[in-house]
Amino acid sequence: MNQSDANDRMRARGTDGTTLDIIVDDSDSLPHGLVRLRSGVIAVTHVYCPNGHNLIREDSDARFNGYPGITLKIKGRDEEGLVIVSPIHGDDTRFGAVDFHPGEITRVSCPQCDAELPVVQECGCTPGSRLVGLYLDPELVEGSQVVLCNSWGCLRSRITDRFQIISRLD
Ligand SMILES: [Zn+2]
Ligand SMILES: [Zn+2]
Repeated sequence: MNQSDANDRMRARGTDGTTLDIIVDDSDSLPHGLVRLRSGVIAVTHVYCPNGHNLIREDSDARFNGYPGITLKIKGRDEEGLVIVSPIHGDDTRFGAVDFHPGEITRVSCPQCDAELPVVQECGCTPGSRLVGLYLDPELVEGSQVVLCNSWGCLRSRITDRFQIISRLD
C-alpha cells in the first residue's frame, strides 16, 4: 500500500461521522457564518474561544456531513483530551480519544490557549452543571454564541444571535 492509499483511507475514516440524515443545502445563509440545512437544522462554520481562536479548522479530517467539527479541550475528573464535536446542532456525534462518564462535570477550554469557556448560566441537568459559551464572531460579541452544557452527555445547547435564539435543544 502506498502513502496516498493510506491517506485516502485515513480521510474516509475521519469523514461523515454524523448520525443524522441531513440533506445539505447551504444556500440559506444566516449571520455569523451559520448555515441552515434543508432539513431545518443549523450548522456552524466558525466559532471562537474567549481569546479569538477559531475552533473549526477548515482542513480538519473530522467532518460531519461535510462540515468540519469543533475541537474542544475537555478535562474531566481523571483525564483530559481533545474532543471534536459536530458543528451541526442536534447531532451528538463526536470524535475523540477520551470518554467521560455520563453526567460528569467537565472543564471545557480552547485547545490552543486553554482559556476556559465562560459560564452563561446554570444548566440544572446535574449538580454543578453549567452552560458555557463560544462566540460566533471573532469580535467576541456576547449574545451571539454557541452555548453548550459542561456535563458530559447533556445535549442542552443553543445558538443565539444577539440573544435571540436561532436554534435550541433542551
Ligand atoms: Zn484560544
Ligand atoms: Zn446540562
